[in-house]
Amino acid sequence: MTRTVYVNGEYLPETEATVSIFDRGFLMADGVYEVTSVLDGKLIDFDGHAVRLERSLTELDMPAACTKEELLEIHRELVSRNEIVEGLVYLQITRGSDGDRDFVFPDPETTKPTIVLFTQNKPGLADNPAAKKGAKIISIEDIRWGRRDIKTVQLLYPSMGKMMAKKAGADDAWLIEDGYVTEGTSNNAYFVKNGKIVTRPLSNDILHGITRKAVLRMAAEAQMVVEERLFTIDEAKEADEAFTTSASAFVMPVVEIDGVALGDGTPGPIATRLREIYLEESLKAAI
Ligand code: PLP
Repeated sequence: MTRTVYVNGEYLPETEATVSIFDRGFLMADGVYEVTSVLDGKLIDFDGHAVRLERSLTELDMPAACTKEELLEIHRELVSRNEIVEGLVYLQITRGSDGDRDFVFPDPETTKPTIVLFTQNKPGLADNPAAKKGAKIISIEDIRWGRRDIKTVQLLYPSMGKMMAKKAGADDAWLIEDGYVTEGTSNNAYFVKNGKIVTRPLSNDILHGITRKAVLRMAAEAQMVVEERLFTIDEAKEADEAFTTSASAFVMPVVEIDGVALGDGTPGPIATRLREIYLEESLKAAI
């Protein structure tokens, strides 16, 4: 089935959708994005993604391409036209194109942002076999820029990190800066020791995960103890269990770090329970 995608106000077959070669997203990675999950044909935490998008745009001095209401309408229209029951909606906004290449930002009065949305069909997203197996993680150096709180499309290093993990026979990588874990290549990182969930506090060093916020709230509601502090990879290796969170993988148990099995090497009870709670609660609140 040919996907219907959205580009700058138009719904088009994916084969007919185009963006200028001078687009600053293409030339300079001058753009931001969001990925929203779809379960049961409904959007998970749309509001959280819309709020973070607005923040990313503001931080980069980029004009909003449309209102939150219009964004919701486009998301829903694409889910409906592409008959997505389980999957993702990808949204990207760039600073657009003024028809040439220049380091200086174009005038926002005359250069409109580029907005692109498309769906990805992912049957079995919720009942993901990978979550039953758990993920194997390697640790690598974090050499990304200093504004990781902004969700930009500069994803080359995270992409390289995934390839390093793959090459090492693992599933993903956690990033280390100044001796402490920042986050995963495309997720937030946690370990559990003696029943306590530990994760890095929010700052410009990590993305403020929409799933992180929801999971920490749900953990507190379930009387779980959460500590937000810096932690090392060695602490994580000695943990009873570990996990990651992201909008597309929800809560993903981690069973191995740098070749060291955590606990009995299978998904831990807290990660497993949090995944259940997250899926249940998010579905109830989905729109
Ligand atoms: N950290 C990074 C670097 C990410 O790329 C992502 C998601 O893409 C996350 C964390 C998780 O954020 P969210 O839960 O909003 O998907």
